[in-house]
Amino acid sequence: MVDEIFRIIEKETVRQRETLMMIPSENYASRKVLEALGSILQNKYAEGYPGRRYYQGQKFTDKVENLAISRAKKLFNVAHVNVQPYSGSPANAAVYFALLDRNEKIMGLDLSCGGHLTHGYPKITFSGKYFNSVSYQTGKNGLIDYDEIESIALKEKPKLIIAGTTSYSRIVDFARFGQIANKVGAYLLADIAHIVGLIIAGVHLSPVPYADIITTTTHKSLRGPRGAMIMVTKKGLKKDQGLSKKIDRAVFPGLQGGPHENVIAAIAVALGEAGKEKFKKYGRQVVKNASRLADELAGLGFEIVSGGTDNHLMVVDLRNKRIGGKVAAELLEKAGIVVNANSIPHDSNPPLAPSGIRLGTPALTTRGMEEKEMVQIAKWIDIILANPHQAVQIKKAVKELVKNFPIPDFP
Ligand SMILES: *Cc1c(COP(=O)(O)O)cnc(C)c1O
Repeated sequence: MVDEIFRIIEKETVRQRETLMMIPSENYASRKVLEALGSILQNKYAEGYPGRRYYQGQKFTDKVENLAISRAKKLFNVAHVNVQPYSGSPANAAVYFALLDRNEKIMGLDLSCGGHLTHGYPKITFSGKYFNSVSYQTGKNGLIDYDEIESIALKEKPKLIIAGTTSYSRIVDFARFGQIANKVGAYLLADIAHIVGLIIAGVHLSPVPYADIITTTTHKSLRGPRGAMIMVTKKGLKKDQGLSKKIDRAVFPGLQGGPHENVIAAIAVALGEAGKEKFKKYGRQVVKNASRLADELAGLGFEIVSGGTDNHLMVVDLRNKRIGGKVAAELLEKAGIVVNANSIPHDSNPPLAPSGIRLGTPALTTRGMEEKEMVQIAKWIDIILANPHQAVQIKKAVKELVKNFPIPDFP
């Protein structure tokens, strides 16, 4: 008898195939990535690092991990890479534990303005509880205000500045962040979890020349397995020659035990795919699609936070449409359009019932959708939010549309 879990997976497979995956942090990993992930590498314990493991039997795990590292080093042109963090949050934790003592100061973007929980959100996250966290916010125009960041940094003297976003639709000026960090003598961490694929494609400024350390997830725009990497730049290593060692020790044994070599193998596969010209084309199309989607929505009277997008996502402020973000997201799901409710900057509503939605194009672009489809989707979103009873009808149309855009080698 088939284990019930496989019936559930089968249903989830259909759900992923028949809906529009528009949560900007989600994507479809390739068959090869999934194969590596589901491989027998998962049976092996490999505590330590290649050539310095605690257990025997590492001939091939060392090869796997070294290949992942060398591909990342080459793709990003960085000095050192750790591919062992279990996911983006533990990667950030490892960086903070590597660089800071308890109650030392970090400075990151406020959650409601587009930062991540791990960037110092107070009270309920390790980053805000264990460390002393100060945040910077976006201005009235929805944009990061670099002058403001500089003045906060001069006053607060953080030991670490975090430049990175989860729901911010504009280019992050890593060069300016670099200047500010230099001026106040702080380390600069660029967290590129969302935009890593765009950086590889050359459609977002790279932090490599400006940051000391870079963290990224591997499952978002990179299209790899759920995992993360920490990279030390040449600049970072020049500033602090012990940086690579500090990072490695913070990951293992500081924070984690055995690395997931099956995940690391899948990261290596994803990095191989991302090194190809085809991936660059993909990244460019992701941005073109998002830009078109934002234009169309704006044309239909939707307020895009900051007025538009330069990257793969947008946050829509729904207050003028008199509908809450959670209600809107639930309605859209009824039509097979899957987005997430999201806070808008300085939201007066709570995070579980925020005033906006966040949507993006990485997964739709993996399916081969282009501007024409974005125009159609924007229209559907407008119709559903104004006339909820139309959701069922549109769900049928969505099902028809996705038939023309099969997910590449999907089960
Ligand atoms: C997604 C994300 C993370 C966390 O990644 P998880 O794998 O969900 O732990 C960290 N930072 C940023 C900017 C992110 O977008």
